[in-house]
Amino acid sequence: MFAPEKDVQSYIHFGLYALQHRGQESAGISISDGSDIKTKKKMGLVSEVFQGDTLENLSGYNAIGHVRYSTEGDSSVTNAQPLTITCKLGKISIVHNGNLKNAKGLRKRLEEEGTIFQTTTDSEILAHLLAKSSYNNIIDGLKEVASMMKGGYTFLLMTTDRLIAFRDAHGFRPLSLGKVDGGYVLSSETCAFDTIGAEYVRDISPGEMVVIDKQGITSTTLLEPKDPSLCIFEYIYFARPDSNLIGKNVHLVRKELGKELAKESNITADIVSGVPDSSLSAASGVAEALNLPYEMGLIKNRYIGRTFIKPNQEMRELGVQVKLNPVNATVFGKRIILVDDSIVRGTTITNIIKTLRDAGAKEVHILISSPPVKFPCYYGIDTSSCGELIASKLNVEEIRTEIGADSLQFLSIQGMVRAVERVPGLNENTGYCLACFNGEYPVTEED
Ligand code: AMP
Ligand code: SF4
Repeated sequence: MFAPEKDVQSYIHFGLYALQHRGQESAGISISDGSDIKTKKKMGLVSEVFQGDTLENLSGYNAIGHVRYSTEGDSSVTNAQPLTITCKLGKISIVHNGNLKNAKGLRKRLEEEGTIFQTTTDSEILAHLLAKSSYNNIIDGLKEVASMMKGGYTFLLMTTDRLIAFRDAHGFRPLSLGKVDGGYVLSSETCAFDTIGAEYVRDISPGEMVVIDKQGITSTTLLEPKDPSLCIFEYIYFARPDSNLIGKNVHLVRKELGKELAKESNITADIVSGVPDSSLSAASGVAEALNLPYEMGLIKNRYIGRTFIKPNQEMRELGVQVKLNPVNATVFGKRIILVDDSIVRGTTITNIIKTLRDAGAKEVHILISSPPVKFPCYYGIDTSSCGELIASKLNVEEIRTEIGADSLQFLSIQGMVRAVERVPGLNENTGYCLACFNGEYPVTEED
């Protein structure tokens, strides 16, 4: 956020609360008063990292913040963002979302040139590329090095008196621009704008860089835009339902995914339930389309983070068990259609089916509002290893047996795209990345 007439620390703090679902391992803020950048970051939730006086020590008119879940790099405080460095371009703070597909190659080359890395993050790769660029100003430096970075990412950088944002050439990860009194704000999701009273202006375009300083905002094409490939998984699972991506509301998209799924299925049941929270919108679409009662079948313990976003399998399994409890009164003796947004490793749904049966459900039919996730993601969503993906090893019937469902149906790829396209958005010619479903990767290392 850049707003010369404000102290932006509380805005960034509240904004990070709104983005907490995107990562719960660590949180951090860098802030500048125009003369120096201060950074605070720690492992934990936003509420744990920024308590009382910790926040009071930070003030200024230019700031970036981050919540992290690790896709690449360990879950440790060394990898927490923002990363603040000092180099020939001055003091710079960097945060990113997504993954560089060619991170290994870039890191190897830099190390061979003598670079010493302190973290395993992609932000540090950009920091070193910039520090070694042939320019002495950050904008020309970025123009020189941006094309070396392949993958799906958004970056925010700040110097003491400037805020810079850019998005990869395909636009995998979302990034929106908002306006506050006398300034601007950038966020991966528009729900953060609502939280801080900012007005949505537009999405940053694929390949675009914006630079915000006291003179205002300028936009440049940093990378020649390629086939637009917004991550469709943002609509399915990752983003908050009150956010809009390219103007399409996530809740409405999920509802359409549910309606499409209902059209493709031929199951009869007594009630429809969703796995809270990410599947409730899709479940309401299924119930509406099948004209069945929509019931609360499971209650989520709100004080536990997203179980999936735990760094190892043992932690994830424990997490699922304490997180969801069935409402016995609604599920006992019923034939249930249970909607979930996705099956990745299969841990969550297996546990839930068992819990519902233990609570007396007569039949449990699983409808998944996305196609089977068969291929790893290299662009910033944590489904990186093929061996962990249940649908890469088993067919639908085998998965059904493995998870213990009475029936199992996934949404088709065509149905998913149809549902997303049906929801009105901005008048943009946008395509979607579907790689984890169809294996067609928009960016490879060779690109
Ligand atoms: P799993 O238990 O491994 O099958 O994970 C599937 C569950 O985790 C679903 O209920 C989703 O809501 C959620 N989920 C799906 N993809 C992700 C992701 N990339 N990160 C975190 N959670 C996810
Ligand atoms: Fe999103 Fe899947 Fe593409 Fe990754 S591979 S960017 S999760 S659609």
